[in-house]
Amino acid sequence: MLPRYDVVVVGARVAGAATAMLLARFGLSVLLLDRAGYGTDTMSTHAFMRGGVLQLSRWGLLDDVVAAGTPPVRRTTFRYANDVVPVEVKPSYGVEALYAPRRTVLDPIVVDAAVAAGVEVRFGAAVADVTRDRRGAVTGVTGRTRDGEVFRAAARIVVGADGIRSTIADLVRAPYERVGRSVAAITYGHWADLETDGYEWNFRAGAASGVVPTNDGKACVYASASPRRIGRGGLAALCRLVAESSPRLAARLAAATPPASMRTFTGRRGHVRRSWGRGWALVGDAGYYKDPISSHGQTDALRDAELLARAIVAVVADGADEREALSSYQGTRDALSTTFFELTDVVAGYRWTDEEIPNLLLSLSAAMSEEVKVIHALPPVPRAVAMTQPVHCG
Ligand SMILES: Cc1cc2nc3c(=O)[nH]c(=O)nc-3n(C[C@H](O)[C@H](O)[C@H](O)COP(=O)(O)OP(=O)(O)OC[C@H]3O[C@@H](n4cnc5c(N)ncnc54)[C@H](O)[C@@H]3O)c2cc1C
Repeated sequence: MLPRYDVVVVGARVAGAATAMLLARFGLSVLLLDRAGYGTDTMSTHAFMRGGVLQLSRWGLLDDVVAAGTPPVRRTTFRYANDVVPVEVKPSYGVEALYAPRRTVLDPIVVDAAVAAGVEVRFGAAVADVTRDRRGAVTGVTGRTRDGEVFRAAARIVVGADGIRSTIADLVRAPYERVGRSVAAITYGHWADLETDGYEWNFRAGAASGVVPTNDGKACVYASASPRRIGRGGLAALCRLVAESSPRLAARLAAATPPASMRTFTGRRGHVRRSWGRGWALVGDAGYYKDPISSHGQTDALRDAELLARAIVAVVADGADEREALSSYQGTRDALSTTFFELTDVVAGYRWTDEEIPNLLLSLSAAMSEEVKVIHALPPVPRAVAMTQPVHCG
């Protein structure tokens, strides 16, 4: 017989694993699928903002991030053409420091927490289609494991947490409600022996760069600019753009141990997609993506995981109207995101002068403060009950 769950979540990283974990903690049966492998890396420069750290703390996962040797970030320094602005990370809302765990550290912590909450997890399982009832409502998924085995699963709600190029969003034809105008590119790598003092963000007209202290004593260093200026990326492109945006950082990099390899993101316009319909919902980059220059995608993913999980629990466990609950999820997400989305689009388009950028970043910071207040006001999430399901690898 077709295995049946309350919810099938497609995509097992920050958005999907967190949503699955929360749904299971609220008592729902959940299948979590990902075509990639457990603990694999993905494209990301790792920085969490206060809202994301608050979520990890509220859910009881921050201790694991700290125990993995992730260094605390207690200061952010903004460097502009004519100014240096250090900002202390003041303890508030129970957050004493920020963190930037490698994805090979963070994603397994969230998946393990999902498993501990009772989620059934399958890696190496690529979803290829959704099933529907006669009225067109989504009723489940079908796909193939890495070994070529076909699988099917039925669910009351299918959640697409499958990233920027979401298969689920495309299959349900989720309309684009907003599309950004800007495309920036990023090239980054991990330096050893680089002395760091928290996050560093450097902005000069036409180029930005930054330093993000992370695990194993390394610092992620990135440069962002238009795709034309980044080209194919790599060390030479990064060093050129760092020298432009912060000569001091360029000098420090010259004295440190460079990365063995670099990664380059060639860019993509931001999008906000309609994120719910009959039997489906989207969370994370699948439904709302903005340029990584905001360093906010993971924080948004953890925020929206909880907003969506609460809406789904209201439908499945408490009999709330699906349309009302899911549209309210999207309404809250959009209210918290629209200003942020528009500001990020301007920053990523490098449509600003050296005089304008400090105020743009101050406006982004104000939007983040609003978000933290909303997260902090959410009711507590149940702690995990002791349960262990296997993690399957297809
Ligand atoms: C260069 C770069 C730097 C960034 N830096 C930062 C930063 O410093 N701070 C920050 O907060 N954010 C950053 N971001 C953004 C952040 O990485 C994303 O917002 C975040 O990863 C979104 O998480 P997600 O769970 O929605 O999607 P993803 O992390 O993309 O995960 C989606 C998962 O879905 C799986 N999947 C896809 N399709 C299928 C399918 N058909 N079947 C099964 N599984 C599927 C994939 O294998 C993947 O594991 C950065 C992004 C980029 C590109």
